[in-house]
Amino acid sequence: MKRAVKKVVTGSVQYDGAGVKLVRVIGNATVYDFDPFLMLDAFDSRDPEDYIKGFPWHPHRGIETVTYLIQGDIEHGDSIGNSGSILDGGCQWMTAGRGILHQEMPQPADRMLGVQLWLNLPKKNKMTHPQYRDIRGDMVPLIQKKGEEVRVISGVYDGKEGATHGDYVEMTFLDVKLEPGAVWELPVNTEDTVFLYLVEGKAIVGDGESILRENRSALLLTEGEEVLVEAGKEGVRFLIFAGAPLREPIAWGGPIVMNTREELNQAFEEIRNGTFITR
Ligand code: MN
Repeated sequence: MKRAVKKVVTGSVQYDGAGVKLVRVIGNATVYDFDPFLMLDAFDSRDPEDYIKGFPWHPHRGIETVTYLIQGDIEHGDSIGNSGSILDGGCQWMTAGRGILHQEMPQPADRMLGVQLWLNLPKKNKMTHPQYRDIRGDMVPLIQKKGEEVRVISGVYDGKEGATHGDYVEMTFLDVKLEPGAVWELPVNTEDTVFLYLVEGKAIVGDGESILRENRSALLLTEGEEVLVEAGKEGVRFLIFAGAPLREPIAWGGPIVMNTREELNQAFEEIRNGTFITR
């Protein structure tokens, strides 16, 4: 069965970090519908004042953060010794596991266009070792066919392996550009959570229903084995995310996402007494 649109979530402008203007597309209010995806922050600015204050040193536990830049430059560093830059077409896949401290500092660019996704970790992996994966733009397979251009950040598309699959939650993450009127299909696991984030343009999603949406929206799809997207008359660029739901309780406290209130309290106690980061 082809998937239809189940729910449309429109993002809202928020400030986070030391004062970064962003659009929070999904978040606290949508966690159970979008399970295993916790949060999606979208960046699109041509004014460095919107983002140069950045996200100075802060902790994470219990999640993975997946930062993908279509365009821009984010300098970063973390408590396990990694530092560098996320540049055009690159993706930083950071597993916080039992605990990491990091900073994410966007640098002035002509345009900063990208997203940060928070992917939940299964209960049994929340306290795994922290890990960091730097996926440069040239490591992301690009598939070009008639009317379409697909970047395979994670998962498989058209028989082509992506830069990763995800280590704990298997996730499909594609960046898809379609020419006007192009029709695009993706087979998916019937019960996976699948959502699209429209970067630019408009599209018709689903079978027979004309659902056209403006930018800054996430479209959660119904269950089914196939995603069908028809580009609008100006074409469309969207990100698509798919993964199996965890169906576990969620206790969310800022940068820490665990299963129970006690585990959250424990994390904040460790941050206070300096035992959060272990080596
Ligand atoms: Mn962070």
